[in-house]
Amino acid sequence: MSTIAPTSRTTLVRRSDRGTYDRAVVNAILDEALICHVGFVLDGQPFVLPTTHARIDERLYVHGSVGSRMLRTLRQGIPVCVTVTLLDGLVLARSAFHHSMNYRSVLILGTAREVQEEAEKRRAFCALVDHVVAGRSTQTRSASPMELKATSVLCLPIEEASAKIRTGPPIDDEEDYALAHWAGVIPLALQAEPPLRDPRLPAGIETPASVARYRRPVP
Ligand SMILES: Cc1cc2nc3c(=O)[nH]c(=O)nc-3n(C[C@H](O)[C@H](O)[C@H](O)COP(=O)(O)OP(=O)(O)OC[C@H]3O[C@@H](n4cnc5c(N)ncnc54)[C@H](O)[C@@H]3O)c2cc1C
Repeated sequence: MSTIAPTSRTTLVRRSDRGTYDRAVVNAILDEALICHVGFVLDGQPFVLPTTHARIDERLYVHGSVGSRMLRTLRQGIPVCVTVTLLDGLVLARSAFHHSMNYRSVLILGTAREVQEEAEKRRAFCALVDHVVAGRSTQTRSASPMELKATSVLCLPIEEASAKIRTGPPIDDEEDYALAHWAGVIPLALQAEPPLRDPRLPAGIETPASVARYRRPVP
C-alpha cells in the first residue's frame, strides 16, 4: 500500500481518525469526482473556482482557455489548493448539533506547472475526456493544432495531499438516544438520466454503449 507522507499542512487535526493518506483511497476519490475546486490567491484576494480535472498516475491535470485568468495565474507557479468532495449522505441526528454529512474528500497542495510537451498535453486531453465518459477520447475528433494552442494544460503533482472520509450513522450524545426523534442517514448519489440526442445528430448514428449504459459512479 502506497502512502502519501503527511506534512504539517496536511495533518488532520479535527477528527484525525477520519483521515487517510492511502494513495489508493486518494486516487479513487479523485477519479470518481467529476469536478474539483481550485483555490489560489491573486493580488491578496483568494479565489476558488470549479473546474474539471483528470488524474494520470500521481499527477492531476486541469485545462482551459489560454485566456483563463485561473490558468494564467497558476502557471506562474504560485501556491494552489485543490479540493474534491463526494457527498454520500445526509446524517440526521437526534440533536440539531450532531447533524452531519457522509462524504469522501481530498485536498491537494502544491504548485502547478504548465504542460509544454505536445505528447503530454494530448495525453492530458484524453484523460480529461475519458475521466467524464470512459473511452470517449477514442469516439471523438481529437484536438486540432489550433485547439491545442488555444488550450492551456496545468499539471499538479499529487505529493502533498490528504483524504477525509465520514461514513455511518449519526453520533448522538448518549443521553439523547432515548429521545423520540427520528435519526439515521439519507443516502445521496449522483445519478445519470437517460441520454438526450443532439437534435442535429443524423438518424443513423447509434448511441454508443459508453453513453447508453452510463452510470454514476462508474462501476
Ligand atoms: C462544472 C464546471 C466545470 C468547469 N470546467 C472548466 C474547465 O475544465 N476548464 C476551465 O477553464 N473552466 C472550467 N469551468 C469554468 C471555471 O469555473 C471558470 O469560470 C473559468 O476557468 C474561467 O476562469 P477565470 O479565472 O478566467 O474567470 P474570470 O472570468 O476571469 O473570473 C472573473 C470573475 O467571474 C466570476 N466567475 C468566474 N468563474 C465562475 C464560476 N464558475 N462560477 C461563478 N462565478 C465565476 C467570479 O466572480 C470571478 O472572480 C468549469 C465550471 C464548472 C461549474
